[in-house]
Amino acid sequence: MGKWDFYTSNEIKPTGWLRRQLEIQAAGLSGNLDKIWPDVRESAWIGGAREGWERVPYWLDGFLPLAYLLEDADLIARGKKYIDAILSFQKEDGWICPCSEEARATYDTWAVLLISKVLTVYYDCSRDERIPGVLYRVMKNYYDLLKSGEVKLFAWGKARWFEGFIAIDFLYRRKKEDWLLDLAKILKEQGTDYNTLTGLWKRPLNRWRQETHIVNLMMMLKYEAVSCELLGEPYTDNAERLLSILSEYNGTPVGLITGDECLSGLSPIQGTELCSVVEMMYSYELLYAATGDSKWAERLELLAFNALPATLSEDMWAHQYVQMSNQIACQKFPGRSLFRTNGPAAHIFGLEPHFGCCTANFNQGWPKFALSTFLHSGDTVISALPVPSELRAEEGTVLLETNYPFENSLHYTVTAKKAFTLKIRIPSFAENRTLDGIPFTEEELSLSFALGEKRAFTVSFETKPLFIDRPHGLHTAKCGSLVFSVPIAYEKKMYEYTDRGVERKFPYCDYEYLPRSEWSYGFCSSVLKKKRGPVSEIPFSGEKPPVMLEAEVQKIDWGLEDGFETVCAKIPLSVEPLSEPMPILLYPYGCSRLRMTELPFVGKE
Ligand SMILES: [Zn+2]
Repeated sequence: MGKWDFYTSNEIKPTGWLRRQLEIQAAGLSGNLDKIWPDVRESAWIGGAREGWERVPYWLDGFLPLAYLLEDADLIARGKKYIDAILSFQKEDGWICPCSEEARATYDTWAVLLISKVLTVYYDCSRDERIPGVLYRVMKNYYDLLKSGEVKLFAWGKARWFEGFIAIDFLYRRKKEDWLLDLAKILKEQGTDYNTLTGLWKRPLNRWRQETHIVNLMMMLKYEAVSCELLGEPYTDNAERLLSILSEYNGTPVGLITGDECLSGLSPIQGTELCSVVEMMYSYELLYAATGDSKWAERLELLAFNALPATLSEDMWAHQYVQMSNQIACQKFPGRSLFRTNGPAAHIFGLEPHFGCCTANFNQGWPKFALSTFLHSGDTVISALPVPSELRAEEGTVLLETNYPFENSLHYTVTAKKAFTLKIRIPSFAENRTLDGIPFTEEELSLSFALGEKRAFTVSFETKPLFIDRPHGLHTAKCGSLVFSVPIAYEKKMYEYTDRGVERKFPYCDYEYLPRSEWSYGFCSSVLKKKRGPVSEIPFSGEKPPVMLEAEVQKIDWGLEDGFETVCAKIPLSVEPLSEPMPILLYPYGCSRLRMTELPFVGKE
């Protein structure tokens, strides 16, 4: 299936704050990982002795589109060096992963699924003509090994079987060969059937298992969208059913599912792993493209504007393994961990807090989001994500100038090189919609352009701040796709050290964030007033947030979680007001590295 097709990184040019965000990423850890991190710098994928499984493919999955979106010759050359090396190690029979022939049976072929996807991403960026042939031999060899039983899916490969469908689809579009459909069937048969597991998702366990693993589950959301056509099955929107169960028992106010690192329930102090944020975004990008259903684009916005920036440092050199919605400190626990299976430092910001998967995998978040701004089908283009970007395609150019989501004016300038239709997705929460000042009510605008036509127009709408109900009698302020938190001022403590041969040295060091302002509040008024500021050089700045909400709060005795000095209690001890009402400025969740997001109303149990 496929309602919309993606453009390539040659056709989409991010502008405005989105380009600035990508430039920060390129100047930060993503753009330098091959220089500083042994698992990428000396990876077995390029002939070294370090990790030869998921870390290099994960990094390339974001680094390559980042390089091409920014048209940065140095980054492009460094990416190509990795691709050239990986291709040079491909065996006669097609096998491409760094593992000996004898070890194949015990090698978790999640890496085959992952590298095959990454090679399609590289092809979309580079149009490197070697790739279709390389991929054909990779997947044909994988098919032969699975078919003969020499290789079986287990562990991660079994949990993530559907990831191989990106490459199968890529090949099947070029060559309609039956073995590709047979490979699709084998992967599904040997892979995990998530529909049988929903009973496990309703009550968290302090036990690590694949079936409740948060990254598996967020990847899984796209399984039907990527597999149904190749399997000859109908599309049933099963992702909606599975997501609604996950959300009901584990949802957060920014649209995440808790997992630290397996499903962790509805508590505002349990964490969500960064890998799951970017995988959930990627799932939503593919679900939107496959179905055209705007609910997926809207859910994608919620993650991109809140969960992703909040869990990365402003310079994008440091990240958390897990983020919490009520996060009063990011300090290593001196004793046992608060998290269900993650260690006591999983929520600090650093090079590889807890484990290094997110260090390599978070890179795909912003670049793939940027690649989803405009999509197309036949002679129709859709402006799917109303963020600053320019499309330069065979249809013509579409320039979108805006500071959305921080403000709600979208200025389009279209120059048509042929006749085409431009659709514009309007968020469901948009009120008082106008096109050049004329009111409209559609959720998708449709404008036709004739060959050679040039036209500029402005779409505007309003978003009203409101409170959404959360479990445990708590509430969260929201406005459009932005979630708001009580920001907590902090002091950063920097740690430089070397552990197991991996150096932490500024700017790629670890940081603890210590709270330096009051956080124990309850809301006392339902009035929320929006305040605008300029978008600064750091779009999700904690110093100069581009938009704020003024709210009224009173102090309460919230209390600390039993056994912890740096974690607020799951729910407040008391909601009795301890002060007069006072105004407070709420910051976007994405701008507040320490924050309280889920609060009670004072006096209401
Ligand atoms: Zn991770």
